[in-house]
Amino acid sequence: MREIELPNGARIPKLGQGTWRMGEDPSRAAAEREALICGIDLGMTLIDTAEMYGDGATERLVGEALAGGRRDEVFLVSKVYPHNAGRRSLPAACEASLRRLRTDRLDLYLLHWPGSVPLAETVEAMEALVAAGRIGSWGVSNFDADDMAELVEAGGKGCMTDQVLYNIARRGPEFDLVPWLAGHRMPLMAYSPIEQGRLPDSAALHEVAERHGVAPMQAALAWAMRDGAIAIPKAGTVAHVRANRRAADIVLTAEARAALDAAYPPPSRKLRLAML
Ligand code: NAP
Repeated sequence: MREIELPNGARIPKLGQGTWRMGEDPSRAAAEREALICGIDLGMTLIDTAEMYGDGATERLVGEALAGGRRDEVFLVSKVYPHNAGRRSLPAACEASLRRLRTDRLDLYLLHWPGSVPLAETVEAMEALVAAGRIGSWGVSNFDADDMAELVEAGGKGCMTDQVLYNIARRGPEFDLVPWLAGHRMPLMAYSPIEQGRLPDSAALHEVAERHGVAPMQAALAWAMRDGAIAIPKAGTVAHVRANRRAADIVLTAEARAALDAAYPPPSRKLRLAML
């Protein structure tokens, strides 16, 4: 599996697994657990979850999937609600996530989106969790370039990543956020990398997919894992996980990138960061 380095030197896979909506429907839970375990077997050992997902049900499902001795193979990421990101609320929210995930530490803890708790307070609380060994590192999500600049101003130099909506049809971050992150050696973590299965179609995508013997969705996933990016597709079945894993072996040629640029043009002006 291709890897990428975080600012603290930790190496993590460029293709991980999302979990939004997992654990919400008991009739699908067994297939979802199986899908996550299959992904770990295939090297997609970064798992992304959040306290928000299914009101805790998703973290519980992830905890069940890891309970069979797989925890140490995984780089485990969870997210805190902005309203829980205060001096006193953050440690409590983290402990609740750890309990649901059946583990004693998170590898990365993200602020889910910018909120009203002062950033300096959240940074301090995150660093205290690192010092206490409850999390390995911390980062943010849904932060635009100006939010990142504000974060650094607030003492947030220890931030490891920004998890944002980024895929071949949502290239807005390339205008200023992608260069900002690259300048700070911070990988971008691309969420909804296949636009929740609703990517706009194009002849170029079909052509690139055909050349690599995959479906258009996996060609788009290979595109999302470009340069400084990590992609975290969510797949609820083993078949989908296996299909997505193939994207990590595809290296797009300059010619393929150019054809895709023509079909899905990069931004020519600032677009406010979108959220799903
Ligand atoms: P996504 O990964 O772009 O798409 C997931 C959808 O694609 C699901 O419906 C899935 O169906 C389908 N799919 C996956 N692999 C497929 C395949 N090989 N063939 C056909 N369909 C396939 O969307 P997402 O779940 O929104 O984003 C990924 C992860 O990013 C989330 O799960 C979550 O962990 C994270 N996220 C974070 C934020 C944030 O605010 N930080 C926001 C959104 C998402 P099945 O389930 O049937 O496989």
